[in-house]
Amino acid sequence: MKQSNPSLPSYLERTEVGPWGIFLEQIDRVAPHLGSLSKWIETLKRPKRILIVDIPIELDNGQIAHFEGYRVQHNITLGPGKGGVRFHPDVDLSEVMALSAWMSIKCSAVDIPFGGAKGGIRINPHDYSAAELERVTRRYTAEISAIIGPEQDIPAPDVNTNSQIMAWMMDTYMGLNGSHDKGVVTGKPISLGGSLGRERSTGRGVFVTALEAAKDLGLDLQGARISIQGFGNVGGVAAEYFHELGAKVIAIQDYHVSLYNEQGLDIPALRAYCAQNAGKGLQGFESADEIDSDDFWDIPSDILVPAALEDQINRQNAGRIQTKIVVEGANGPTTPAADDILKDKGIVVVPDVLANAGGVTVSYFEWVQNRAHFYWDEATIYERLDSKLREAYQEIAAVAQKHQTSLRTAAYILACTRILEVRATRGLFP
Ligand code: NAD
Repeated sequence: MKQSNPSLPSYLERTEVGPWGIFLEQIDRVAPHLGSLSKWIETLKRPKRILIVDIPIELDNGQIAHFEGYRVQHNITLGPGKGGVRFHPDVDLSEVMALSAWMSIKCSAVDIPFGGAKGGIRINPHDYSAAELERVTRRYTAEISAIIGPEQDIPAPDVNTNSQIMAWMMDTYMGLNGSHDKGVVTGKPISLGGSLGRERSTGRGVFVTALEAAKDLGLDLQGARISIQGFGNVGGVAAEYFHELGAKVIAIQDYHVSLYNEQGLDIPALRAYCAQNAGKGLQGFESADEIDSDDFWDIPSDILVPAALEDQINRQNAGRIQTKIVVEGANGPTTPAADDILKDKGIVVVPDVLANAGGVTVSYFEWVQNRAHFYWDEATIYERLDSKLREAYQEIAAVAQKHQTSLRTAAYILACTRILEVRATRGLFP
């Protein structure tokens, strides 16, 4: 019998390390649990579609600059692609492929009818004027317009992109297509069809899934000690919810400083300080003790929330962590090697594809509202968000129990099973 050729397409050959390499390792850990569906697993190891575009723009000084742009649709078996657009000088194919794949897993794990996609431009946005960023955004949108759309692939904000960038993307798409369908992007300003609750949704989801995990472990969050890395949209909002419930947020680290107070930090004062000192983060806040950034990982806590960047909990520091639950607000904050170390120490990890899925869940609600031209109030959005995430947590915890695996592997088992069952039933075209 003729064997299929197992060799990788050439563009995947040099991407077995880095973020895409981590994703492949995560998939390899799931394959043994997929039974007969494992014959389809290769589908998940190859992105469905990769588009690399050149983005030329005229700078304010009259010169022409070129930027490298990406849009990757990892898997669109369950629905249109969904995923943010990142503006960062380090964006590369391996990163965008991995982020798009994690979106496939995330949407499927929480049972949202979207596939996974991601986009990015290799640019440091802080070096360019607003007018230049608008030209970059519009040209990028025009270049990828053939593969995006409300029923094809729906971009959203990510690192260094925001609701204004989404407004320019929507306007460009509508201009090119003569369309009025606002569902082409999510994370829009409210006046352009954005959803109430979107900004707080990821931080809220971190809190809701942490509550579920704490309940499972019999941990009372009243007075529980919480450490958070990253005090932005995700970590800052999660800190507010923990504080309101009566937990003590004892340590916070941002890009600039690490703060510690055994009695609990004053979260409302810190949030107000950040709002007033945009760009400075927690730097200069005087009512808390500053500690060395590396010492942050030694502080004993009940819950640790990495909500900044990828690769923060790794082989080097995982052994030092003293906590009961890690709730991943960031995407990819724990390496596979660190996962094993935490597991051996009996630390439960609520994985990113579940813990930070609040954002994509409310993005889905935004798309639904846009398509229906009927808008929900904030209370309805939070109620639906909370119940969606609680349900997802319970389903994933049940799979973990059944297969005796970590919550991460369980989330992957559930997500891959959903995608591959549909793939197998649909069959291959043509
Ligand atoms: P943000 O820019 O609002 O905040 C990031 C925070 O991390 C800031 O406080 C920053 O100072 C801190 N930080 C940056 N570099 C650091 C470093 N080296 N050490 C310590 N702290 C550092 O970003 P965000 O929206 O809160 O996103 C944080 C993470 O959550 C990212 O991994 C992002 O991909 C992920 N995420 C965000 C959303 C969302 O809806 N915003 C959804 C899903 C996942």
